[in-house]
Formats: sequence, C-alpha cells, structure tokens
Amino acid sequence: MTQNTQLRGRFAPSPSGRMHLGNAFSALLAWLSVRHAGGEMVLRLEDLDPARCKPAYCAQVEEDLRWLGLDWDMGGSQGGEGYYQSRRSEIYTTYLEQLRAKGLLYPCFCSRNQLHAASAPHRSDGTPLYSGACRDLTPEQQAERAKTRKPAVRIRVPEEVVCFTDGVMGPQSQNLARECGDFILRRSDGVYAYQLAVVVDDALMGVNQVVRGEDLLDSTPRQIWLQRQLGFSQPEYCHVPLLYGQDGHRLSKRQRDLDLGAIRVSGARPEDVVGRLACWAGLIDRPAPISAGELVRDFEWQKVRKTDIIVE
Ligand code: GLU
Repeated sequence: MTQNTQLRGRFAPSPSGRMHLGNAFSALLAWLSVRHAGGEMVLRLEDLDPARCKPAYCAQVEEDLRWLGLDWDMGGSQGGEGYYQSRRSEIYTTYLEQLRAKGLLYPCFCSRNQLHAASAPHRSDGTPLYSGACRDLTPEQQAERAKTRKPAVRIRVPEEVVCFTDGVMGPQSQNLARECGDFILRRSDGVYAYQLAVVVDDALMGVNQVVRGEDLLDSTPRQIWLQRQLGFSQPEYCHVPLLYGQDGHRLSKRQRDLDLGAIRVSGARPEDVVGRLACWAGLIDRPAPISAGELVRDFEWQKVRKTDIIVE
C-alpha cells in the first residue's frame, strides 16, 4: 500500500450465533489497526447461509461491537441491504460469469459422500482435496447428470504456487493444485460460497486491509488467486492467533460460556473484556481494565503475538 492510500478495514462477522471472545479478539485488532492509522471501517454481515444465519444475530453483532467500544464508518444495518451478503447474489453472479467466460468453471455433481470418501487426500485443515471427478466431463455427460442432480459450480485451479507475506504470520506459500484443489464457488442449492463472496465484496467495498483469525490463513492463497483472475487488487492480510478453551478446542459459537452474552450477563464491563483481549494480544502486560479507545495510540502490529492463546 502506498503512503497516501487511506486504510480501509472491515468487520465481516457471520451472524450464525452470538460473538465469542475469539471473534471479539479479531474485531478489536481490526478496529485498532484502522483507528490507529486514521482509516475507515466497514461492517459487512456474512449471512450467506440461510440455514445458519439469522437476522436477530445481525442486530446482536452490532450491539456487541458497540458495547465493546468498536464503531464503524459504513455498513451494518444503517448501511442498508448492500452490506448483507444474502442480498448480493446478483453481484456474485456477474463475477461468476466473468470466471465462466475465462473457461475456469465446471459443474460438479459429486455427492457429499463421494467428496468425503476415506481415500480422498486431505487439505491441512482436514477437508478433502477435490479428486477432479467432474473436471473433464463431456457436455453430454454433464447434460445426463444434470437430469438427476443439481450441480455445484467449481473452479479449476492451476499448478501454481501463490505466495504472500502476512502482516502477523509472515511469509506464506501454497501450491493451489496440491494443497487447495478445485474449489466451489456456488453450492448446488444456489448459495454462493464464502470464497467468491469475500473476494468480490472486499474489492467492491474498497477494503485494503483484511484482519481475521488464523483459521482463514489457508483460504487466503485461493482468494488472492481469485482476485488476480478478476483483476482486483490484493489487500494486506493480517491473520491473528486463535483462542482455545482449556479443553484444547478452538472457541466456537457452540460453546455458550465464552460468548459475549454469557460474559455480559456475568457482570463483566467492556473494559474488563477489552483488557483481557489486549493482554492476550500482547498489547498490554497485565489484563487490567482498559477501553478500546485508550489502546489506539500505542497500537502496533509488531507487538501482536503470533501463537495460539489458551483462555483461562
Ligand atoms: N465471516 C467469517 C467469519 O465470521 C470471516 C470471513 C473473513 O474475515 O474473511 O468467520
């Protein structure tokens, strides 16, 4: 990024449950980075999956962010429908068609069971690497299969190594064909995949810094590759460490005890929560109460820790 480009970051929560401390941790760092640089913040609701996302959670996310002292300049409910991914399908279709015109897409008729066959090689995150079963079907074979099954849309990735330097985790590289494989851009039920939506939205919303949990580090090379296919510029990436419970499991929205609802009911104040998050992040030495605003001046990415955090 050049010196005089204004930084624009984003919160991109999936409203599939109450925010937990891990979500709050990423949100705090994204916000501090933007506010320290005098930049702008976008709030985009990633509610693509109608089965998991509920409008009530969208409102709750906004309320929890405000309670933490984190604000935004555009998006959210005040920004209107354009900041809800569920309302942006037509936009995703436009970009999907650009990729189709480049000959990169094919229909995939594989069932869940076929995809998860025990023999399938797996990605580092444990999900199966696509076998390529539908990659070279003839038009006749595709038409035959389409009679009984609605296909997903998959994109063909090349034997190419994508490299980038993460602002926290350092240099990264991934061989797309071997470590990522052809991936889905639209599910068979017509719902667009996160991988396409996030690339399109960050580009169209002018986002030039992406701060998010390390669980998405592995998705970044394919997103960078999609940006290149669509002629978008590449944002700066900062992947922050994940929070784990004492049982060794990553915090998730299924564990209610560390979500902001339970924490707020227990009587914690925003500055208590922010103090703990800031201490885990390496921004302050002790988990003393502090507001998000008080952390802005001295924020530096160099201070942010890189290793997993166990929540006591
Ligand atoms: N919506 C995703 C989540 O809540 C984050 C996606 C992103 O930051 O790129 O986990």
